Amino acid sequence: MSQTDAISADQTPISCDVLVAGAGAAGLSAAHAFATQGRKVVIVGKIETHAAGRTVALFEGSLRFFRALDLWQACAVHANPMEGIRMIDDTGSIFPSTPREFRSREIDLDAFGENIENNALVAELAAAARKNPDITLIEDLIDSFELNYLGARARLASGGYIEAKFVVAGEGRNSQARQIAGITVKTWTYPQVALTVLLAHEKPHYNISTEFHKRSGPFTFVPLRGREGAPHRSSLVWLVTPRDALRLQAESAEMLAAEIEDESHGLLGAIAIDGPLGSFPMGGLKTSRVTGLRMALIGESAHLFPPIGAQGLNLTLRDIANLVDCLEGVDLDETDRITRALEDYERHRARDIGLRVNGVDILNRSLLVHALPVDFARAAALNFFAAIGPLRRALMREGVTPHGSTPKLMRARPPLRRTRVQVAQKF
Ligand SMILES: Cc1cc2nc3c(=O)[nH]c(=O)nc-3n(C[C@H](O)[C@H](O)[C@H](O)COP(=O)(O)OP(=O)(O)OC[C@H]3O[C@@H](n4cnc5c(N)ncnc54)[C@H](O)[C@@H]3O)c2cc1C
Repeated sequence: MSQTDAISADQTPISCDVLVAGAGAAGLSAAHAFATQGRKVVIVGKIETHAAGRTVALFEGSLRFFRALDLWQACAVHANPMEGIRMIDDTGSIFPSTPREFRSREIDLDAFGENIENNALVAELAAAARKNPDITLIEDLIDSFELNYLGARARLASGGYIEAKFVVAGEGRNSQARQIAGITVKTWTYPQVALTVLLAHEKPHYNISTEFHKRSGPFTFVPLRGREGAPHRSSLVWLVTPRDALRLQAESAEMLAAEIEDESHGLLGAIAIDGPLGSFPMGGLKTSRVTGLRMALIGESAHLFPPIGAQGLNLTLRDIANLVDCLEGVDLDETDRITRALEDYERHRARDIGLRVNGVDILNRSLLVHALPVDFARAAALNFFAAIGPLRRALMREGVTPHGSTPKLMRARPPLRRTRVQVAQKF
């Protein structure tokens, strides 16, 4: 059911099993995952499809997640496979790492994953949510929350209330649910802005993503599906200083394209700008916990880091798949069972989140610091991992399907769809 009209304050509160706060890629994915588990889900958030020039590279585990939920077919028409990842040290250091190319075939995959426009992904997930009888999508904002031992109550900005047995906080970096649950956050900023733009280019990308490591951070082409009149397209994520971001944003499309051509040493031939330029100030965020009373954090409510190695949403989907596993078969009327399930979620997520937030932070800072020992260590580490076959493959697998127990929604075979009646019968 889709509900776009405001609920007036005198209406009876809407009750549900799971309230998902925030309707970005994270929240929408969570709504689908919980609905498939047989829960009655309400998701509240505005559908925003104006992330200029932004794409997400989704790795194999994430694709399995969407396939298991029957969501990938609709998204696939917008996506392009990524069969290789090329890394080029363009820092100008006297200790450059050797250029490397990693191929998905080396780890027996046709592709590492697929690259899709953020807006297309969100639009498809929202369209599927509107058609799903177990999901009520309310295109509004949550004004305030109350979380207590028995459940949660949320007030909508336009009036009306939602009562839920469980809350999934997917409202992004400024999560209000996180604050109300008393979870503390550590935030920091980097002297970088990510510029994003879609490009049409002369030469084919051969389904290979190319990451130039520059002093201001990575400059990454990710292959995108061609369209009529522009058979060769890529997205660009370019980390620059705030001052350069302002300068580049003021340039004409022709000047910007010429500068991108120069920065990429003509790799894709002549370039044309194929959409608006996006700009995202870079920061990081870690939380003291990822759970509260009858609530869990997912996505950027729980972790934030720069877009290096395309990890953000992939990590988020692992949050969701893991949370769904932890709550499987749990009667949401039993607070103690929920608390135990959340302890499992807390334990499972700590390592994965810590590894990505800290790993990306170290790599990013190693590019920003102009120090020979740091350059040497970065180059030596990459050369070492890339040259030794088993380590190289382990590194590739860790990026695509991280080790540790794989959540059910990310296993190769999709789980059977269970009905609400089946869940109820367990008790
Ligand atoms: C330049 C760039 C490139 C990236 N590339 C990749 C990539 O290739 N691969 C990858 O895996 N990740 C990538 N990421 C990361 C990925 O895009 C993010 O992790 C993901 O989009 C975050 O989704 P989210 O739903 O958690 O947060 P958001 O997209 O911020 O969604 C949160 C939503 O909650 C809403 N909201 C906030 N408060 C309320 C409220 N009170 N009530 C209701 N709704 C509320 C907001 O309006 C918003 O719609 C990239 C990020 C950037 C910046």
